[in-house]
Amino acid sequence: MTPLTTSASPSTVTVSLSAIRANTRMMREVCGTPIMAVVKADGFGLGAIRVARAAVSGGATELGVATIDEALTLRAASLEEPILAWMLHDGARVGEALDAKIRLSLTRRAQVAEVARLAAGLGVVAEIELEVETGMHRSGCSEADWDATLDEARRAEASGWVRVIGVWTHLSGCSPAHFTEPLETLGRAADLARRKGLRPRVHAAASLAATIDPRTRLDLVRLGASLVGIEPVRADPVGLHPAIRWESHITQLHDVREGALVGYGRHRIDSPRRLALIPVGYADGVPRRASPTLGVLTRTGHKLPFIGTISMDHAVVDIGDLEVSPGEAVVLIGDPLRGEPGLADWADALDTIEQEILTGLGDRVARVESTSAWPA
Ligand SMILES: *Cc1c(COP(=O)(O)O)cnc(C)c1O
Repeated sequence: MTPLTTSASPSTVTVSLSAIRANTRMMREVCGTPIMAVVKADGFGLGAIRVARAAVSGGATELGVATIDEALTLRAASLEEPILAWMLHDGARVGEALDAKIRLSLTRRAQVAEVARLAAGLGVVAEIELEVETGMHRSGCSEADWDATLDEARRAEASGWVRVIGVWTHLSGCSPAHFTEPLETLGRAADLARRKGLRPRVHAAASLAATIDPRTRLDLVRLGASLVGIEPVRADPVGLHPAIRWESHITQLHDVREGALVGYGRHRIDSPRRLALIPVGYADGVPRRASPTLGVLTRTGHKLPFIGTISMDHAVVDIGDLEVSPGEAVVLIGDPLRGEPGLADWADALDTIEQEILTGLGDRVARVESTSAWPA
């Protein structure tokens, strides 16, 4: 029981860079295709720059993000790999992106013409990809617009200010049967592009498709979740390493009598109890509904369940008759192989997916890096 006496933050997520590196290598072996490491949403909440660097050191050769701002952040950190940004919005810093050699994914003819015009004005060659819609109905160029968009792309390339790098799509679904039709649609788009004289690479798969269906691997796989240790198929795991450990500590203890009330919800205690305060709440990423199913684990292996409503900054746990002191470290999310609550346990208990837990970690949660296989 080593009291945590020097913690600078209410709670800390330790990000294992070696786990991310090992996961990247493992996925490279599984897929046999070049890897674009997807580090959108600040690297799934763990720090885009550190996740990108760890993935590159594990063999990823490109980076992918949603927004241009995210791409510029990576470039500013001296990551020199190709970076693709696929979510354009009004007011996006397109000119700055072109100057920083960020690849832009476009979805319509007018965007292609606009990027060609901007690139010529800036005197830089724009590298673009075309996202095609293949059945998810989220983002991408619909089949009816392929012809005009690809003609524009061909014209832009002929101007010398644009290079068309790729044609790609995103897949939904969870079994190979779901991917067949989208892959055929993508193939038609790529064929049409080639008939017009373009030479695009083709990509479709994110972590799940890349893992379960070799047909989706094509020229490149775009991996995010798997690199940060989220198993694409839990029932048939790749053997990825958990990449985070979330720890906090006990800050206060209260002996309460039968009938005492806990938290905003005035949860009534039915027998005398010792309660402990943990300085994390829903603003930090512990959802209100985490009580009472989830809790924390002491270093001695005792599970302390959350009790009462989780507040914005506070969670209360029931410590039974355990002897603990303020300052004692507790694990919120750790390694299930060590009997600790894992990210997947949280996702299950909260009826969501691991990604939502990670991206829900608040700004007050310190992120620190560890290079050991698993942070102690
Ligand atoms: C998030 C995302 C990915 C990565 O998906 P994972 O399931 O996290 O591997 C790939 N491509 C696009 C377009 C995405 O938005």
